[in-house]
Amino acid sequence: MTREFKQTSDDRCSTNKINIGISSCLLGERVRFDSGHKNNAYITKILSKYFEFHSFCPEVSIGLGIPREPIRLVSDEIDGSIKCVGTRNPSLDVTEPLIRCAENQLNWVENLSGYIFKKDSPSCGMERVKIYNNGNPSRSGTGIYASVIMKYFPNLPVEEEGRLGDAHIRENFIKRVFIYKRWCDLLTSSPSKKDLVNFHAQHKLIYISHSQSKTKALGQLVAEIGKMEISQYCESYIGMVTNILRKPANRKNHANVLKHIQGYLKHELDKGDKDEMATMIEEYRLGYIPLVVPITVLRHHFRRHPIPYIDMSYYMQPHPKDLMLQNTL
Ligand code: SF4
Repeated sequence: MTREFKQTSDDRCSTNKINIGISSCLLGERVRFDSGHKNNAYITKILSKYFEFHSFCPEVSIGLGIPREPIRLVSDEIDGSIKCVGTRNPSLDVTEPLIRCAENQLNWVENLSGYIFKKDSPSCGMERVKIYNNGNPSRSGTGIYASVIMKYFPNLPVEEEGRLGDAHIRENFIKRVFIYKRWCDLLTSSPSKKDLVNFHAQHKLIYISHSQSKTKALGQLVAEIGKMEISQYCESYIGMVTNILRKPANRKNHANVLKHIQGYLKHELDKGDKDEMATMIEEYRLGYIPLVVPITVLRHHFRRHPIPYIDMSYYMQPHPKDLMLQNTL
């Protein structure tokens, strides 16, 4: 589904916390097949300061009950289609109920800025879920519920709780959520073409840190905005941004962006400051220091020598400082 322009100010983006969907068991709700849960402390203790979680358990929603027979994905021997069936009773086929259940959630999922799924689940798993073929598992599946949500909302940032343990994936997911939230806020305000170009300028350095070539292609789209319908532009723009941000940024690209940013200070810094900054960026590129170090020093310099383009950019602070996400990059 594509987000449309809305004329009303009644919107999730106006709340302070960001609305995020989540598999119920990750919040400690005892909804698993064995009446257990999979509480994730990082989610419930840290992310909950910024995210308003909307929990949902598709298996409970379709009436499987707690406790219940576990289910799994199997590949149909005849046509190769994927079905979700009981592990003890294969005639218990919940594929269609799970699909319908997901399709019934689109109204509230549309108001989210991200979704965190439980890994490995035949309902909620985002990727690498076991599919059984003649009793042999291969990790190539997606949970039935999650696959429908991702199909209808291809630009919604989604991640699995298991992968959030990786610093780069965690930072990337949270950054995508904040960008998507700002994008949704913009769409609900009936933006002008100038507003949309401004949004691009605010995020361009982030995009470059992910892919210079893809950002160049995105820049060509932005340059064409004058000839396009706003709705057509927005659909293409967010699709390309999703594609750019899908893979976390690497040190080499960040180092290039940092050097580019330093270039804005070429008349303001003396040789000593310039050399110190260049050394720091190189040390970051080589992995000796985390991203937060050169960024902190650059922010210090820009506080003393403000540059409007850098001030407006989210690159140096794409998410709240307290999350300390740049400390581990
Ligand atoms: S993984 Fe999904 S279906 Fe399974 S218990 Fe958690 S919320 Fe329910």
